[in-house]
Amino acid sequence: MARVGLGHDTHRLVEGRPLILGGVRIEHPRGLLGHSDADVVCHAVVDALLGAAGLGDIGELYPDTDPRWQGADSTTLLADVVERIRRHNWSIVNCDVIIHTQEPKLTPHKAAIRASLARLLGVDLEVVNVKAKTGEQVGPVGRAEAIVCQAVVLLDRPAQTR
Ligand code: MG
Repeated sequence: MARVGLGHDTHRLVEGRPLILGGVRIEHPRGLLGHSDADVVCHAVVDALLGAAGLGDIGELYPDTDPRWQGADSTTLLADVVERIRRHNWSIVNCDVIIHTQEPKLTPHKAAIRASLARLLGVDLEVVNVKAKTGEQVGPVGRAEAIVCQAVVLLDRPAQTR
């Protein structure tokens, strides 16, 4: 039985914060604002996984009012969710991601982000895909005010299991 899940996240791009995308630290004068490390890619993938498995959303599991997640490394949240879905007998078929950002240019970083996600998801590189789009200088992404990420994940498990 296969199930598809969709994830989406937005974080504001500001001075004085590190930029971490899919667990990869990217050198850039600005980074993403958030309660955790604001890794918009990990957050979107987490929600895609939770959506496919019918397990809610990232805000229910890791509320931003909880001091435990202050400055949290989002790769640990993603690893925790991968563990949860595996406990429900799901395996990951593939994961596809679009990162919307006007700056920085992601072409030099896409391979590293892909490899990082594949490692975190515990899957082969070939079933993870990372795409980057600019905002064409319009809207919050195009004005470099925010980075947005969309993710889709397909899960599969034997029909009888729960
Ligand atoms: Mg987020």
